[in-house]
Amino acid sequence: MAKTKPGKKDLDSYTIKGTTKVVRTGDCVLMRPSDSDKPPYVARVEKIEADHRNNVKVRVRWYYRPEESIGGRRQFHGAKELFLSDHYDVQSAHTIEGKCTVHSFKNYTKLENVGAEDYFCRFEYKASTGGFTPDRVAVYCKCEMPYNPDDLMVQCEGCKDWFHPSCMGMTIEDAKKLEHFLCSDCSSDDDAKRSLNTFPVSPSVEAKVEPKRRKR
Ligand SMILES: [Zn+2]
Ligand SMILES: [Zn+2]
Repeated sequence: MAKTKPGKKDLDSYTIKGTTKVVRTGDCVLMRPSDSDKPPYVARVEKIEADHRNNVKVRVRWYYRPEESIGGRRQFHGAKELFLSDHYDVQSAHTIEGKCTVHSFKNYTKLENVGAEDYFCRFEYKASTGGFTPDRVAVYCKCEMPYNPDDLMVQCEGCKDWFHPSCMGMTIEDAKKLEHFLCSDCSSDDDAKRSLNTFPVSPSVEAKVEPKRRKR
């Protein structure tokens, strides 16, 4: 037997009811939640098919919002962040409200303007365990947090690390006016920093210790 179940027919596309927007396999869509107080669900369309009565169904792979994940929303999660889950469903195409774009993290950070339909995804999410892939990310700043693209960060010209203005004792307005930025480690005490990064061969590190009397 063919893979398609009897009476079902694969479709190339579906036009969202009341619109001219066409959804194709691979597109990301917004789906009406059963509870209308909640924001729409976001999903990637894996397959579109019609049954013998021409009811259109879509097989979707859900994106989870941070608050829907087992670990919950964390400080570094962006407002438009989504996790690509391993949770699939078949839904009536009627629940599709609109289309959206789920950008890669890199592309999202390059957007000039973030529209209502722009989201980003940097993690895959296992719904049964709450686990993420990748399970580690780079951290920045003195606070050692992963990058939240909603928060302004400034790059130090010395160490090239990125910093939150608030962690550096600046306001965001101060930070925006800066033409050059050196973090506190790179700017304040060059000598102290250098001595931390080098082997202490100089006796000056013991300067505060009372010199012993020379014995003959
Ligand atoms: Zn910080
Ligand atoms: Zn620095």
